Amino acid sequence: MDKNFKEEFTQIIKFKPPLYKQRHQFVKDLVEKYKPKKVADLGCADCSLLRMLKFCSCIEVLAGLDICANVMKEKMHTLSPLPLDYLQPSERSLTVTLHHGSVAHKDPCMLGFDLVTCIELIEHLQEPELKKFPEVVFGFMAPSIVVISTPNSEFNPLLPGVMLYRHPDHKFEWNQAQFQSWALETARCYDYSVEFTGVGHPPPGMEKAGFCTQIGVFIRKHPQTGESVQSEKPTEAVYKTVFKAVYPSLKDEKYLQNAVISEVIFTAQIIKHRLMSKHEEYGDDPERKSKLQPSMDCFSDYLGKLVVEKNMEPFVNGNEFYIPLATIFSFPKVNRLCGSFEKLCKLIAGKVRLSSDGSAVMLSIEHEDE
Ligand code: SAH
Repeated sequence: MDKNFKEEFTQIIKFKPPLYKQRHQFVKDLVEKYKPKKVADLGCADCSLLRMLKFCSCIEVLAGLDICANVMKEKMHTLSPLPLDYLQPSERSLTVTLHHGSVAHKDPCMLGFDLVTCIELIEHLQEPELKKFPEVVFGFMAPSIVVISTPNSEFNPLLPGVMLYRHPDHKFEWNQAQFQSWALETARCYDYSVEFTGVGHPPPGMEKAGFCTQIGVFIRKHPQTGESVQSEKPTEAVYKTVFKAVYPSLKDEKYLQNAVISEVIFTAQIIKHRLMSKHEEYGDDPERKSKLQPSMDCFSDYLGKLVVEKNMEPFVNGNEFYIPLATIFSFPKVNRLCGSFEKLCKLIAGKVRLSSDGSAVMLSIEHEDE
């Protein structure tokens, strides 16, 4: 490479967004494309990729593995559910687990994954570990997709201050031909196809250097059933679980019940307010009136259509306001949460005040904030 050219570039190469973010974004895009349910990140370090992936709504199982427990433990608490996750449980289930162990060893907890990511991992492996790596990841774990990223040594002369390797813990750094021949041989052995790409574009005129980070995306050629994976591969557990978080989910009956009860009461109150506002003034509080009005407008149209059916019409008896459960069930959110009318009845039984025959929610006329 022309020395002057190199010096010119070493001054200016700065990736925006930073390269590690581009690598993580690459994985996120892949997740959005293939929608894997179970994702494992090998060499997860401080869990920053996992933290990003937990927001991908298709993922139900996330696992991290690293040989260094301390680096995982530093920020693992950031993978725990937040108060908002409990207040508004998600419809999907999500479990996040961190394991302490080496990619050179097989552990049954790594079976059944759809996507396995190895971002800037392989160059940290000692030779004997690198030799075992393909058999563990492609032979044993055998996910549908594997993503491997590693530095491209041909780019190093363009990076300021890089003498031998980009990081003191790197055991090697491959050029494009070295990475591609290793990847093609691995893919051939384990019946995968592989495509090469990367992140961190070279500067104009330096295209031959290739991407700063080279990436191989491996796709398994033949599908495997979950059962055959489990039964054919009896292995002893060798990893140590250092963290596990089970996120609150509406798939869990207790969170579903809370959500349904809140939504039923909310819907009943809105209906009550809407109908009562037809008959009486809201008092002297104009601010409150204006707050309620927008949400009631859409409800009022909807309610208008519903009460055409006689038995769905809310009514007043004495001091009580009755809102038929059938009316409440026909509101989209309640309907979606419960799935069936029977399930709605089951979930709110004993938790919401109902008429004696159980067909309507009762709200007291006097207490607006019931
Ligand atoms: N994947 C991370 C960082 C990679 S740094 C990211 O995208 O930012 C490499 C990580 O691999 C380190 O945390 C190191 O502890 C871990 N590692 C090194 N050898 C390993 C092995 N044999 N098994 C599992 N993890 C290993």
